[in-house]
Amino acid sequence: TDALDRLRRLIRDIPDFPKPGIQFRDITPLLADPSGLALAVELLANPYRGKYIDLVVGAESRGFIFGTAVACCLSAGFGLVRKPGKLPYKKIAKTYDLEYGTDTLEMHADGVIEGQRVLIVDDLLATGGTMTACIDLVKSLGGEVVGVAVLIELLGLNGRDKLDVPDVHSVLTYE
Ligand code: 5GP
Repeated sequence: TDALDRLRRLIRDIPDFPKPGIQFRDITPLLADPSGLALAVELLANPYRGKYIDLVVGAESRGFIFGTAVACCLSAGFGLVRKPGKLPYKKIAKTYDLEYGTDTLEMHADGVIEGQRVLIVDDLLATGGTMTACIDLVKSLGGEVVGVAVLIELLGLNGRDKLDVPDVHSVLTYE
């Protein structure tokens, strides 16, 4: 549609960032565009309206931007997933594999309350490693992951196949 084409034109492709051979999808032009930002947030949130989402969870840094906005749209709260050492209170951690090495993400032990219906939001789904770690963190605190919503899905990496959740929603897909 026209709206999706407009959003797609607001994503800037940066070759060889952060490493040679990687094409980075830069969302900052979209964030800077008043109607583009509003449209992106609305299209992320729409499938989950009326689905009784208690909490939206997002990983730093870009998951915070879209996650908080979607939480406001859905009248839900927001829970933070952060890199190690940033959270001040009692926390749980999940370590996951990268192409080279591993990474860890953390969440406060009371960041999700048992039984809460949770939507996880991020800007982009690539291998699914980040999202899998977020899903594991939420589930280990007793949250029910209702779905996952991302602005951009990179189809070639089959990230969605790794995600053990009832629903994966992406606004824009790239081959
Ligand atoms: P994954 O863990 O699925 O391999 O990578 C997704 C995570 O890395 C997301 O949190 C996302 O913010 C970040 N990421 C990886 N590649 C890109 C990219 O090309 N553009 C943006 N904006 N984020 C990316």
